[in-house]
Amino acid sequence: MKVIIIGNGLAGTMAAKTVRELDSQSEILIFAEERHHYYPRPNLIEYIAGKLPYERIFAFSEGWQTRQKIDIELENPVRKILPKSKEVELAGTRRESYDKLLIANGASSFVPPIQGAGQRGVFSLRTLDDAQAILEGLQSGRRVAVIGGGLLGLEIARAIRARGAEVEVVEFFDRLLPRQLDGQGAALLRSQIESLGIAIRLGVATEEILGNGDIQGLKLKGGDEVKAGMVVIAAGVRPNLGLPADAGLTTDRGLVVDDRLRTSHPQIFAAGDGIQHRGKVYGIIPASFEQGRTAAYNIIGEDKPYGGTVPSNTLKVVGLDVTSVGLVNPEGSGFEEVRKFNKESGIYKKIVVQDGALVGAIWIGTKKGVNEITRAVTARTKVSQYVNVLLEDSFDFSVL
Ligand SMILES: Cc1cc2nc3c(=O)[nH]c(=O)nc-3n(C[C@H](O)[C@H](O)[C@H](O)COP(=O)(O)OP(=O)(O)OC[C@H]3O[C@@H](n4cnc5c(N)ncnc54)[C@H](O)[C@@H]3O)c2cc1C
Repeated sequence: MKVIIIGNGLAGTMAAKTVRELDSQSEILIFAEERHHYYPRPNLIEYIAGKLPYERIFAFSEGWQTRQKIDIELENPVRKILPKSKEVELAGTRRESYDKLLIANGASSFVPPIQGAGQRGVFSLRTLDDAQAILEGLQSGRRVAVIGGGLLGLEIARAIRARGAEVEVVEFFDRLLPRQLDGQGAALLRSQIESLGIAIRLGVATEEILGNGDIQGLKLKGGDEVKAGMVVIAAGVRPNLGLPADAGLTTDRGLVVDDRLRTSHPQIFAAGDGIQHRGKVYGIIPASFEQGRTAAYNIIGEDKPYGGTVPSNTLKVVGLDVTSVGLVNPEGSGFEEVRKFNKESGIYKKIVVQDGALVGAIWIGTKKGVNEITRAVTARTKVSQYVNVLLEDSFDFSVL
């Protein structure tokens, strides 16, 4: 069997690795748009911060693909998918046929229609090439404005600050990490970020990026200005839908797949940031990883359903341990929210319970209990009788 994979990001790479684990005979051919072998994107943050050297960005040692008998063609993007003849079209008139195709072409940075966003000196971060462009832009020690106070925006701000630049983050919402945190958690995070010398402006929209040749700053709605010689936009991502839509595959907010990660065409599967499964577009590592692996099973004919991923993030945002799992800002009735804040230690914990089952949690300032609470939320564990003690540091999770 010949499997073609479009994209060598996390989903494409995990799928190739898994197909090879399950089946030593299949031919695996990856077409990649980027010129680099697979690297985990979070490494770009440490690279920009100067904490990870270039050679250590990559996930696998040199020659890994060859040892795995995975053929990869870098800088050779698929231009067209031809589902009827089971072929993909590449540069020139070259065509390659497949028995099964996996679309793992991911997502791209979203650049909102802000006046001046197309100028030199305005960056976004998705790829290693983007990271290198940002580092080059930083060389002149400019002031930097980051548009977007989500996870990526804050991590970029931290990395740039670590290089000694003055940084200001501008966020449209009235709090940081609006998707992952509640008001109290976001306020804690804000004071931690400000203590690193990063300025934050909340509840403001950027109207224009000022400059003519050289960036001068941001003009905000209402008239205020933020002085900056360089701008990084971190306003989310959008699935790459052009290629599958042109091939006639069903798309919505993402490329639509069923529980076997199959698209609307039976020989074409899809995984990663580009897909929409049961109405959800995830855009996170745990989902792309699981989808890539699960798609591989179905591609080689071993039936394996994918039931979705409970969104969870455990990371050191600007040096503070932050975990957010499941539903953390419930809307409507029927939810119980329990919080605990220890001012001395700076530890904040919150759980969200629905019909006696744990459906969400926030853990800030500690890693203790993070694995256990993540597992319990994922399994929707019943916790009614422990609601009042579950947030104690001494709570014994083995009773759940
Ligand atoms: C700096 C940064 C930090 C992040 N940190 C976290 C984190 O801490 N936690 C977390 O959960 N998530 C994080 N993410 C998100 C995470 O990286 C993504 O969820 C993950 O990379 C998705 O993998 P993917 O393979 O689906 O897509 P992608 O990583 O987007 O890979 C898709 C690949 O397909 C290629 N491609 C596109 N079109 C074609 C074509 N026509 N032909 C061939 N190749 C093509 C693209 O060039 C790309 O290399 C971060 C993202 C960034 C940018």
